[in-house]
Amino acid sequence: MLIEMQDIWKTYTDGTHALRGVSVRIDRNEFVYLVGPSGAGKSTFMKLIYREEVPTKGQLSVNGFNIGKLKPRKIPYVRRNIGVIFQDFRLLPKLTVYENVAFAMEVIEAPRRLIKKRTMEVLDLVGLKHKHASLPAQLSGGEQQRVAIARAIVNNPTVIVADEPTGNLDPETSWGIMNLLEEINFRGATIVMATHNKEIVNTMRKRVIAIENGNIARDEARGEYGYET
Ligand code: ADP
Ligand code: ADP
Repeated sequence: MLIEMQDIWKTYTDGTHALRGVSVRIDRNEFVYLVGPSGAGKSTFMKLIYREEVPTKGQLSVNGFNIGKLKPRKIPYVRRNIGVIFQDFRLLPKLTVYENVAFAMEVIEAPRRLIKKRTMEVLDLVGLKHKHASLPAQLSGGEQQRVAIARAIVNNPTVIVADEPTGNLDPETSWGIMNLLEEINFRGATIVMATHNKEIVNTMRKRVIAIENGNIARDEARGEYGYET
């Protein structure tokens, strides 16, 4: 089992219960949509997976690591196996496309020779090899998200966590991003993606986990979005 939550609670310091006893198992190579109203707990669910937050109560294991009991010096080992993609891209504005992606490999001290080869390989995969010398501001939103995806996959993570990756993109560009995520899933990565995009969820049918008020309200193998937009 790749990700396993057992009775996970997350209570923030101000007393907000973001998750209230969530139990779920996500297997290797699954593609999961997380849906539900704003404030339901989707981002918290994902932040626990990439160890941005720690559970208040319950058991969480990711890639065999017990996240709640993880020693700080082990955090990098968990994170290198997880790629994170955000709605607002979060590229470093003063670095080129190439440097934004290569940096993620430098952080884990990958060999220099490998960095160049692998960085160009993933830029090719996302269709942006020719823009390697551009700065993020010189790219469209869809292109910037492709760079963020390249950065997320460059270290070959087992899990990709994506928080509304198409939230800032027009429909056509969004479909391009979804095709890319499906390709990455096909190549072996598990994808957990929070989304409010009804059309995508209802067209690219996958497992749907609906979170409402900190609990899992639905978990369906080929689910639907299930809310009005
Ligand atoms: P979603 O991603 O579904 O919109 P979140 O996980 O962001 O939901 O938020 C769940 C609940 O936790 C909300 O009530 C939100 O306001 C609250 N919350 C999120 N982050 C924090 C935080 N750092 N401190 C306090 N409350 C938070
Ligand atoms: P976290 O604090 O959870 O590690 P960050 O926002 O710092 O998240 O990093 C998100 C992604 O951006 C990671 O893949 C990381 O390797 C990459 N990253 C962080 N800082 C830089 C940087 N200065 N240049 C390029 N990529 C970076």
